[in-house]
Amino acid sequence: MSTSNAVTYGTIQTLRMAIAGEVFVPGDPGYDPARRAWNLAVDERPAVVVVARSAADVARAVRFARAQGMRIAPQGTGHGAPPLEPVDGAMLLRTSRMRDVRIDPAARTARAEAGALWQDVTIPAGEHGLAALAGSSPDVGVTGYTLGGGIGWLARRYGLAANSVTAAELVIPDGRLVRVDAGREPDLFWAVRGGGGSVGVVTALEMRLYPVRELYAGVLFFPIQRAAEVLHAWREWTGTVPDEVTSIGRIMRFPPLPEVPEPLRGRAFALVEAAYLGGEGNGAELIGPLRQLGPELDTFATIPAPALQQLHMDPSQPLPGQGDGAFLADAPAAAIDAVVALAGPDADTLLASVEIRHLGGALARPAPGGGAQPSIDAKYVMFAGGFSPTPDLAEAVRGHAQAVKDALAAWHAGYDYYNFEETPAAASAVLPPASYRRLQKIKASYDPGQVIISTHPVWPAQVRT
Ligand SMILES: Cc1cc2nc3c(=O)[nH]c(=O)nc-3n(C[C@H](O)[C@H](O)[C@H](O)COP(=O)(O)OP(=O)(O)OC[C@H]3O[C@@H](n4cnc5c(N)ncnc54)[C@H](O)[C@@H]3O)c2cc1C
Repeated sequence: MSTSNAVTYGTIQTLRMAIAGEVFVPGDPGYDPARRAWNLAVDERPAVVVVARSAADVARAVRFARAQGMRIAPQGTGHGAPPLEPVDGAMLLRTSRMRDVRIDPAARTARAEAGALWQDVTIPAGEHGLAALAGSSPDVGVTGYTLGGGIGWLARRYGLAANSVTAAELVIPDGRLVRVDAGREPDLFWAVRGGGGSVGVVTALEMRLYPVRELYAGVLFFPIQRAAEVLHAWREWTGTVPDEVTSIGRIMRFPPLPEVPEPLRGRAFALVEAAYLGGEGNGAELIGPLRQLGPELDTFATIPAPALQQLHMDPSQPLPGQGDGAFLADAPAAAIDAVVALAGPDADTLLASVEIRHLGGALARPAPGGGAQPSIDAKYVMFAGGFSPTPDLAEAVRGHAQAVKDALAAWHAGYDYYNFEETPAAASAVLPPASYRRLQKIKASYDPGQVIISTHPVWPAQVRT
């Protein structure tokens, strides 16, 4: 028996004996579940899947892949799989069984193994009155999200998740496990904070937590027929709020599925979602102008910090989906009109959601000692996506998302957001130009042979500039 990459059965057995985790090759009963990405529209067919249980497993797997001349695609959940280049012939190195998380309440830090999901951090941190810079979804991976930047509900107050990373442990392509922080391996430390996972396989991240026990947060639901009025009002309102408010203006079509709550099932809405780092008194005053529009449903309340991850109503199960996003230097009234034309009440669209997130605040200020995305020079970020159970639908949904992106082209910032770019694109398309050039040099030092496959590839400086 041999794998498609001509790795012999005996060689695979040697790897199986060497690690505590599991190894699968095509034909093994466990191969399909092990290779399956969270995004079910992606069909990854690697030569070998390694499900690592420890950093030592990761190091052994990396050395094995190098000896076999295989490339390596590190992956936690597969939420970020859509833009990945094909992994045929490569090793898919899954960290999904490495979910240990330690909270240090006194130091206000968390250490998360590479496979941890955000809920693995936010729930125990919340028990100490602390919050992490998690994203909108509880089951997105801490590592992929953070390597790509990380824009969550506290972003306008505390910045990108990547810039709150205090240390990382990773296996670099020569097979060594290194710990990087502000004083050790500064290039690698800089690269993993927002530059994606192109320089090694991360085994753990350490990050700052923030003293946030509760917030005033919720969603205002309006019938989709009011999309123009609501999104214009929201856009104007974003110019008035302090950094303690992070919000999203959104058009959403809920599927007619039993698991969707009855008042939303099969219906379409214009929404404003917001989180305010403060109490109900000030929060209600801040939300007041939008509330006065008279929403059909209003869920604003004081909630514990971990409950923030329910606010955006992200899918709780793996599903097939397509989407695309863009940083917007600005979103004037004409940009809102463009979104409403393509996703509003009169649009014939397959997009389940088109959202515009308000940026600025701490995101716009250079983070002291920050990484590859030190600040974001865009006032908003857009993401449009939909469900795509068949290849035909996938193409159609991609087309609709691209149409929204194209309609907003006049306001695009210089590059797109790493984590929201779901079509294949080099890292040069999703990072500041100076960061991409520095990343190319770091890649040339640590991975000149392009062994690591990352979401958005970095071409080593000497290969292509
Ligand atoms: C439902 C949903 C909600 C989202 N919400 C937000 C949000 O609020 N804010 C935001 O910023 N983004 C958000 N995203 C985007 C998300 O951050 C990216 O898709 C991210 O890549 C997911 O990380 P992951 O680890 O779960 O995915 P994976 O697919 O497992 O990883 C993505 C990539 O990260 C790299 N990587 C992962 N693990 C490692 C490792 N151990 N070592 C080296 N590289 C590694 C690899 O390049 C990998 O291809 C969301 C995505 C979805 C699907």
